[in-house]
Amino acid sequence: MAPKEHEMLLKGISGSPGICIGKAYLVDREGVDVIEKYYISEDKVQSEISRFKNAVKKAKKELAEVIEGLPEELRHHSYILETHMLLHKDKMLYGKAIEIIETEKVNAEWALKEATSRAKAMFANISDPYLRSRSADVEHVSDCIMRNLVGVQDLNISNIDKRVILVAHNLSPAETSQIQLERIKGFITNRGGKASHTSIIARTLEIPAVLGLENATEAIENDDIIIVDGNKGMVIVDPDEETLFRYEELSKQYEAQKADAIRTSDQPAVSSDGVLLGIMGNIEMPEELVAVKDHGGDGVGLLRTEFLYLNRSQYPPEDELFEQYKEVVELMDPKPVTIRTLDINGDKEISAVPTPDEANPALGLRAIRFCLKKRGVFKTQLRAILRAAVHGYVRLLLPMISSCEEVRETLKLLDESAEELSREGYAFNRDIEIGVMIEVPSSALIADALAELVDFFSIGTNDLVQYTLAIDRVNRHVADLYNPLHPAVIRLLKMVTDTAHEKKIRVYMCGEMAAELLNLPVLLGLGFEELSMAPQSIPMIKNMIRKINAADARKFVEKVCRQNSALDTMQLIQDSYGDLLTQKFE
Ligand code: PEP
Ligand code: MG
Repeated sequence: MAPKEHEMLLKGISGSPGICIGKAYLVDREGVDVIEKYYISEDKVQSEISRFKNAVKKAKKELAEVIEGLPEELRHHSYILETHMLLHKDKMLYGKAIEIIETEKVNAEWALKEATSRAKAMFANISDPYLRSRSADVEHVSDCIMRNLVGVQDLNISNIDKRVILVAHNLSPAETSQIQLERIKGFITNRGGKASHTSIIARTLEIPAVLGLENATEAIENDDIIIVDGNKGMVIVDPDEETLFRYEELSKQYEAQKADAIRTSDQPAVSSDGVLLGIMGNIEMPEELVAVKDHGGDGVGLLRTEFLYLNRSQYPPEDELFEQYKEVVELMDPKPVTIRTLDINGDKEISAVPTPDEANPALGLRAIRFCLKKRGVFKTQLRAILRAAVHGYVRLLLPMISSCEEVRETLKLLDESAEELSREGYAFNRDIEIGVMIEVPSSALIADALAELVDFFSIGTNDLVQYTLAIDRVNRHVADLYNPLHPAVIRLLKMVTDTAHEKKIRVYMCGEMAAELLNLPVLLGLGFEELSMAPQSIPMIKNMIRKINAADARKFVEKVCRQNSALDTMQLIQDSYGDLLTQKFE
């Protein structure tokens, strides 16, 4: 056992929940990062382009083999790899690299490196973390082509024959999907974030993963004992005996609770005194609906619709949107599907044609503001949603609302869309529930006025915390200050839930805060009717709700509202509900 002073804590981002303990296995490959630039003569340009095209062809072939061999549980995620397939020939990478070889007369490796960094720079200006993390996809695809160009062996994770924890600089979705569950306990990477496809795959495989550790591959050596705490997004290297023992216990508790939760996930989440909560899934792609169903979700609480607007040179046509929404709605019927309208901003309106001219994109022309400026684009989406609503239970959700005018304008556009559809002879349903995201402080402060215009609120704490505390949600340097239990956030939540109850409209939550076990007593006490989260979190949350008494939780919230610091609130939850919560505070 390593002496106590050697225990080292690395903090990253939780990619997939769970705890695992084991030996580290470094899987980093080398040689691809050092790219030499050299010039080629005019008569070598065509052969250099052919060399590049061949490398792309080989990379595509390798990827096709991975897709072919995907394990059953990842079949419905093959779309991620299919997207990578398309990216190989995307003009921002493929077209650009060829153009650079032709115009600058440089080697293919350098041209690809250049094309990749230009594409990544485009993504870096995007404020939405989901879209921003798509830059990782470009990087993975470029990596594969580069390995073929320079002749470096691909990482073959499927050959690892020991029970280990992978430690890598980065893992692509294709690599992650080759993980053999019986061998690999979990993985950690320097790069990546919560919204990366790699973490979506890890969550589907249900193996613990911590990403974005920055220096894991330097801090950890092969065969080091490490603890991966995917619940908290941290890694302990060379743990001392006491930590090891504590984590072995925690891991057992977590697994037992998870097994118990999964057994009962199809049953409703009813508190110990009979209050029913809807526990819903957040999804980004229609394919993720399977996960919502498999984990006992009571519907889709948030369908992020940005995915259809990416990696293309034109806005998607109405029929395409309609078909996609219809599929989700039909599969979920009679349970609700909450379709959120486009939550993008000007600099990523279409990923291939960025216009990054905003100094503060998070405060800029995004979401509803963007849609109300691009009315044609907005109406196309609204029409598709109204048409899909014929096929099941659809709710419409508007992001980033900060004024009543925005809601009124949208309602007007909805009416116009309905009239047009009627004139054109389409089947549609205008009689759908309409809600607003409460994710900026202004909307929380005018909740009483907004309640007059809509049927429900859905609190988006990811943004509400960011805008209330003035903490960029994707800035690692202030990540430790980002806390949904901050008294300012709690007070806003109380205000919004009280207003919703007074005005008799429903109130939901669809931010990450809803998926944390320790927040549940507070959320139940505040009177949320639905909580929406990553599908994999649903069973545990349902399980925990059954153990909490809602009437007690309501009284508890009164105490919570009197706290003046997040730390005090956390301590209060620990003191009052610690025994119920597996994940205790250290
Ligand atoms: C939120 O802001 O809490 C939310 C659910 O929306 P997104 O994470 O897509 O911004
Ligand atoms: Mg948001």
